Amino acid sequence: MALDFTLSPAQRRLQLEARSFARDVLREVRPATRDLPTPLARFLATRPMYEAAVAAGWLRRLIPQPFGGEGGGILDMALVAEEFFAVDVNVPLTLFANLLGLMPLMIAGTPAQRERFIAPFLVTSGAPLAALCNTEPGGSANYATPAPGAGVRTTAVRDGETWVINGTKQWISSATGWDGAGADLLCVVCRTDPAAPPASGISVLCVPRPMPGLVVERYIDSLGHRAHLLPRFRFDDVRVPRDHVVGPVGGGVQIIDASFTGTAALVGVMGTALMRGAFDFALDFARRERRGGPVPIIEHQAVGYGLADAKTTLEAARWLSLKACHAMDTQEPGAVELALHSKIFGSETAVRVITDLMRLVGIDSYDHELPLGGLLQDALALPLFDGGNMGVRRRQLHTLMRDPAFDPQASLDGPAA
Ligand SMILES: Cc1cc2nc3c(=O)[nH]c(=O)nc-3n(C[C@H](O)[C@H](O)[C@H](O)COP(=O)(O)OP(=O)(O)OC[C@H]3O[C@@H](n4cnc5c(N)ncnc54)[C@H](O)[C@@H]3O)c2cc1C
Repeated sequence: MALDFTLSPAQRRLQLEARSFARDVLREVRPATRDLPTPLARFLATRPMYEAAVAAGWLRRLIPQPFGGEGGGILDMALVAEEFFAVDVNVPLTLFANLLGLMPLMIAGTPAQRERFIAPFLVTSGAPLAALCNTEPGGSANYATPAPGAGVRTTAVRDGETWVINGTKQWISSATGWDGAGADLLCVVCRTDPAAPPASGISVLCVPRPMPGLVVERYIDSLGHRAHLLPRFRFDDVRVPRDHVVGPVGGGVQIIDASFTGTAALVGVMGTALMRGAFDFALDFARRERRGGPVPIIEHQAVGYGLADAKTTLEAARWLSLKACHAMDTQEPGAVELALHSKIFGSETAVRVITDLMRLVGIDSYDHELPLGGLLQDALALPLFDGGNMGVRRRQLHTLMRDPAFDPQASLDGPAA
């Protein structure tokens, strides 16, 4: 009886608690933000819901127990993520982006760095924000490519006991904070040795507030995630003490790759959640609407088949993602591979299934009064972010499979004995 997909009583409680928080609080995000004219105004309008999430302990529950939080693992996060993202993507992404922002410290921080930089996020009041700053204008797909590729262009140069950071980043979740002066903590990917190859020339530096020299250039008016902050900003001689490097100086590439692998399985869950939101709406619509005919459209075979195909795909994405999260928690040999499949499958099927459901609902789905257009706009980000699916296939899955030691059955093996 080892293969058992049943949620434990604690997991079921967590899931139901997340569902009621989404229903009571996150449902308010769309009406509070949709008519506001700028990305910044929409983001600022989410603050009360974000504060409510922190007050309800959701930030503490994302941070794993070994780092002082109450998080029980990626599978527990996945149960929360599905409930949250099925209702709203904006506040949940702001919340989950903290995890990405703190990930380098969890992977490679010293006890003193963890104590200092993670502790401010173990709270049940306020609205703390952390971000991992990798992406730069001009692209980051080749951030770790040797010369003549430019790779990471943001630099950190030693000046006595400090590092001096210069460069521009963009598309970084919440990075400029509520007041434009910076999130509470940025983990910034910098080139620390321009002469060295990327494997020894890139580092991650912690930049806490206050951060004089951080300059907002613009807030991106993104297609979806309309109330999530995605700024473009630069570091003009931003200084941090020498001991703010996370892990070894020059050891950034491994830390960054590991940080993004940790989130890949969760992107599959986000895709599942968006499909779920779209499916629930389309099912209700098909039961209710006759569209001028004699029967509700669900009675038409073509509509029934469309709903069936959507649900089949949703279930496949859900269980692949949950299996990937479980494998990450138990550090199974095939965990990384499964997380990457989950990222690709969950994100790309979300775009396809929501488009199919729009066809099923018909022309009214093209009106923003209905949720499907917004869900599609949100889903379009999933194959593009978190490394981009071109990059996940190329840099990660292809690299895994090119290795002569790659074992295609590893994903069946379960935890090491
Ligand atoms: C909602 C949202 C939140 C985000 N949050 C963050 C964040 O918190 N932190 C962060 O750092 N970033 C963040 N991003 C940015 C995003 O994660 C990355 O920038 C993105 O995944 C990199 O995408 P890319 O591969 O398209 O890069 P690009 O460098 O722009 O590449 C563009 C395209 O060029 C092609 N290409 C480039 N090089 C090659 C090659 N060698 N071989 C084959 N094809 C190639 C591929 O088709 C690729 O898709 C966020 C983005 C969004 C939308």
